[in-house]
Amino acid sequence: MTIDHLPTALPRHLREVDLRLARVQEDREDQLHATPPNTSDPATTTYRGNLEATLRDVRVARERVAAGDYGTCMRCHGVIAEERLEFRPWALTCAPCANNE
Ligand SMILES: [Zn+2]
Repeated sequence: MTIDHLPTALPRHLREVDLRLARVQEDREDQLHATPPNTSDPATTTYRGNLEATLRDVRVARERVAAGDYGTCMRCHGVIAEERLEFRPWALTCAPCANNE
């Protein structure tokens, strides 16, 4: 686990968020490594695509934790609802913005 880059003064709450994200990242990476990369099976391709998309969001979310921007919508700059982050801690946009994609 790499949490070295985190500022030491990071609030406890954010450290816990980052640990949660780090676990999600490890899980998804394991799942990705366990899935064949070159396959003609469309379901596997979709599955890998979803894993990769989540991993990208998780990495950005962890950067935002470190930068102090975590929990702020990347589109409208509003606050992302607590319940949404609870369910999807790597969410980068608020629910209304996500639904308008
Ligand atoms: Zn928004």
